[in-house]
Amino acid sequence: MIPYGRQWIDEDDIQAVVEVLRSDWLTTGPCVESFENAFAEQVGANYAVAVSSGTAALHAAMFALGIGPGDEVIIPAMTFAATANCVVFQGGTPVFADVEPDTLLIDPRDAEKRITSKTKAVIAVDYAGQPCDYGALKTIASRSGSGIALVDDACHALGAKYRNAPVGSIADLSAFSFHPVKHITTGEGGMITTDDEDLAQRMRIFRNHGIMTDHRQRESRGSWFYEMVDLGYNYRLTDFQCALGMSQLKKLSEWVRRRQSIAGLYDEAFKEIQSVQPLQVKKDVLHAYHLYVVRLNSENPHHDRSTIFRKLRNLGIGVNVHYVPVHLHPFYRKRFHTVPGMCPVAEKAYEQIISLPLFPGMIDADVATVIEAVRKVTI
Ligand SMILES: *Cc1c(COP(=O)(O)O)cnc(C)c1O
Repeated sequence: MIPYGRQWIDEDDIQAVVEVLRSDWLTTGPCVESFENAFAEQVGANYAVAVSSGTAALHAAMFALGIGPGDEVIIPAMTFAATANCVVFQGGTPVFADVEPDTLLIDPRDAEKRITSKTKAVIAVDYAGQPCDYGALKTIASRSGSGIALVDDACHALGAKYRNAPVGSIADLSAFSFHPVKHITTGEGGMITTDDEDLAQRMRIFRNHGIMTDHRQRESRGSWFYEMVDLGYNYRLTDFQCALGMSQLKKLSEWVRRRQSIAGLYDEAFKEIQSVQPLQVKKDVLHAYHLYVVRLNSENPHHDRSTIFRKLRNLGIGVNVHYVPVHLHPFYRKRFHTVPGMCPVAEKAYEQIISLPLFPGMIDADVATVIEAVRKVTI
């Protein structure tokens, strides 16, 4: 089976981890700060805060912005559940906006319609690795006057650019994931980037139980005293994970290029298959291709998404579907009374989309195998 995504671990990654395992610091140690600094530099942000997952990164962003009961946060319907869950963790209300049909990115006009006096933030999701329309989103956020923060769920988009600005340097806060299927991995892990020192400081406290100083800082000062100033969590990323992250980060540019070249091979092949439509790529972006998503829109009733999905899996192609629109999940229907019809574009897209295998370790022959299988089941 060719999976839809897969990590790439080299001998130097293993060496980097082993070195830390032999050192004094297993969890918060010198590698955490080194990884944060390297990451901030990579994406052109002033600050980066490492946490234990992409979900923790989103949660920390909501905490830093002070999201709480009564606050509304607008998120696109077409995303992973964690984008909405982070709002609920803080007692806020996620409000679902629809997406653009050709890119499945949040539709800025639809998002604007859903703004109320309670709206505190918009979380844009760079779906599949393509940056959202940040020009339009920033205009909307500033036009509202009441200080709507712009958060980027950039879990798909490490290495992407919007009008030459790297993702991670655009929104007020940007959240990344280092799950094995993402661009770089630390097993589990995440990062938030920002240019705002206060927000960064709040998140550093949040990831460590709400305590002002960490164990290492106290040790170096020869002090036992600490104060808990906020309710936080244990969302720390370990030192050996950060060593792995630093080692992986060195290969990011090469991996993004490989992802783009695989996407180019798919694009070329699917020009000849009418019923297989790749998502559109906008002119002013550099797409990081976490996912390669196509819409299946055949007239043939035997070529519906479920059938194609099953046939491709039977041929050893590890296709997937990203995502079930979040407002259709039972939890959201029950807790927030969301219903089908609220985001018709996302709902229709959900019936037609399929994600094809895409990861830097794929060789051209793997890509050809996938293309041949798609041709076989759709023609
Ligand atoms: C992967 C992902 C997350 C969550 O990241 P984890 O590291 O798995 O917690 C959140 N949002 C999106 C869009 C993702 O793809």
